[in-house]
Amino acid sequence: MRHKAGHVPSLYTIATLGSHSALQILKGAKDEGFHTLAVVTPANERLYSSFAFVDEVIVIPHYGDFPKLEKELNKRKVILVPHGSFVAYLSMEQHKRMTTPYFGNKAVLDWEADRMRQREWLTKAGLKMPRQFTKASEIDRPVIVKLYGALGGKGYLFVKNPEDFTARASHLVEQRYIMQEYVLGVPVYIHYFYSPLTGKLEIMSMDRRYESNVDSLGRIPLADQEGWDISPSYVVIGNQPISLRESLLAEAFDMGEAVVRTSRQLCPDRGLFGAFCLESIVTPESEFFLMEISARIVAGTNLFIDGSPYSYLNYDEPMSTGRRIARELKNALLSNSLDLVLDQSSRLPADASSGKNGETVAVPGPGVPAN
Ligand code: AMP
Ligand code: AMP
Repeated sequence: MRHKAGHVPSLYTIATLGSHSALQILKGAKDEGFHTLAVVTPANERLYSSFAFVDEVIVIPHYGDFPKLEKELNKRKVILVPHGSFVAYLSMEQHKRMTTPYFGNKAVLDWEADRMRQREWLTKAGLKMPRQFTKASEIDRPVIVKLYGALGGKGYLFVKNPEDFTARASHLVEQRYIMQEYVLGVPVYIHYFYSPLTGKLEIMSMDRRYESNVDSLGRIPLADQEGWDISPSYVVIGNQPISLRESLLAEAFDMGEAVVRTSRQLCPDRGLFGAFCLESIVTPESEFFLMEISARIVAGTNLFIDGSPYSYLNYDEPMSTGRRIARELKNALLSNSLDLVLDQSSRLPADASSGKNGETVAVPGPGVPAN
């Protein structure tokens, strides 16, 4: 059977877990012509079903039950687009074992999940990171104690000195955490997209996180805080848009390119591609200090479902990160190169490439090469 190239996406379903950035991902998928599927828990069913761009909803008792759907998903032309909930609610093994076609490179997860390996990756890319301490006795300046995993800042502690650590953080010994120099500055989260089809990097958008209660402490005068036992917490509550001073933009772009380039040496065999985020703090000296990298779509992109000032520079239409992912999948299908954008664990249905069904088209895309 032959299909017109433009109809190819409608033969595929883009699916994701109903949480985090699923609405953005599925809206983008629909805008690019795909069929859409949300896998939800009972509490979310009504919400996700209420949107016209969600074609189908499958209800599972808990997000952790998602891998049990593998067989059913693999019978159909489903492509999974992962987001933060995949890391938060599925174990690494479950995540990796699934053979449902998956946008991105799962090999990157090993580097992303381990903060020491993240550090190796980012420093190898030439980026600055806050100083790290391994023992409480070494602490000679304020530090932040951070737990492993995508927890949205939950449980992080600000610690002033070794005594403060003993008093407030020694219960953490059994858990996995790191101690980082506390960098005073503006948290800037830069959202990128790297296309393996065009070899080009794009800055999609940026946000600063709004965290409770640390971002609210300034609302109470210091004099009134005295004698009140307040410790800052870093639980993310939402995100605010930010546009970077333009003179810092070139460095932000270079950082993204360096991270992609370095990932090819570290993660077999194609490195990082698709959506990712560099989480930085920018100091009064305009220096970027990297706190973390997220190797997939981050929730801060939800501010820009209708596009951002940065995506507008590259596209004359609203282009969210979710839609950009779907555009990449569409371009891959139309140019018969789906394998370039999927993880190698992906088991494709028999006639999964468009080349067998229709015409192959050249891949368009803005940006500049990352190599
Ligand atoms: P949720 O769907 O809210 O349960 O979130 C799934 C995971 O993503 C959790 O680990 C959250 O901490 C994280 N997360 C959700 N929303 C945000 C956000 N706006 N910024 C950063 N992380 C988030
Ligand atoms: P992360 O989980 O590394 O993205 O950090 C979550 C939040 O903790 C950030 O948005 C910052 O507010 C805060 N944070 C993390 N690392 C540092 C650091 N080294 N210095 C200051 N604040 C930090």
